[in-house]
Amino acid sequence: MKNVAVIGAGTMGNGIAHTFAQFDYKVQLIDLHQASLDKGIATITKNLDRMVAKETITEADKQRTLKNITTFTNLEEGVEYAGLVVEAATENVDLKLKIFRDLDKFCPDDTILASNTSSISITQIASVTSRPEMVIGMHFMNPVPIMKLVEIIKGYSTSQETFKTVEALSKKLNKVPVEVNDYPGFVANRILMPMINEAIETLYNGVAGVKEIDTVMKLGMAHPMGPLALADFIGLDICLSILKVMYEGFKNPKYAPCPLLVNMVMAGKLGAKSGEGFYDYSQNRKAEDVSKMFSK
Ligand code: NAD
Repeated sequence: MKNVAVIGAGTMGNGIAHTFAQFDYKVQLIDLHQASLDKGIATITKNLDRMVAKETITEADKQRTLKNITTFTNLEEGVEYAGLVVEAATENVDLKLKIFRDLDKFCPDDTILASNTSSISITQIASVTSRPEMVIGMHFMNPVPIMKLVEIIKGYSTSQETFKTVEALSKKLNKVPVEVNDYPGFVANRILMPMINEAIETLYNGVAGVKEIDTVMKLGMAHPMGPLALADFIGLDICLSILKVMYEGFKNPKYAPCPLLVNMVMAGKLGAKSGEGFYDYSQNRKAEDVSKMFSK
């Protein structure tokens, strides 16, 4: 497999494209508008520059990586030769179902279709295609070029052959793949989100302040980042929507989002990306600093 199409050039899409290209795959990066693609390529270039400065790659590696990426605004054209498609478009069920119907139509018959979704059922996505055995979840973590884990999610109909191919491919990217079945939140978010929600609940109940809660988890549990800083980094709207998916999916009150989280999202306090969440990012600390904390 040499050609990998990546749908969406946002936070995750540009990281996934960067990673495949760095390991010498030909990447077709697809987004709706040229401006989003240009922004994605600019981010990849900046991240490669940082790796060159840290001497983890050479200038020649950087140039080769960038040369491996071609951009498209036309899905049909972009996926024409793809052996694998990794979809990392906006988290919206209807949008993803439409993309997968189109992918099924435009991709060669043997193309594996993967989604990087954090919370949408792989089984549901697979059900709108004529090849559910070749549909799978590849849940990369942010920032993709740095984080080692890929949760590989097997939908109800995903074949073992598809799983094995994607597992081997993930290893070629120097990642550690973990096999997971398709239930709400998969493994990462099923464990992480209740922890974040409980940290918010602890704050909401006045047990301790933001810094105190994060300090307990950092110094007491050796977490690289406290749960409230992590929630800000992920985006409070994303945390809320994943908790809602698990609450709906399991009908279990333990996943009910804390009212403080709901209020903050309604007030537009979404974390690092909006300039304010549990911490203030408007003056001294930018989202990028949080990302650096996370990668240490
Ligand atoms: P993002 O908003 O940064 O980027 C989404 C991109 O998709 C945008 O550039 C948008 O223009 C593009 N897009 C929308 N519709 C499209 C279409 N029809 N065709 C092509 N491109 C289209 O989002 P993100 O944070 O990168 O998330 C992408 C996916 O990755 C989501 O499914 C999300 O759940 C998942 N995910 C996100 C994270 C994270 O930390 N951000 C982590 C793991 C998984």
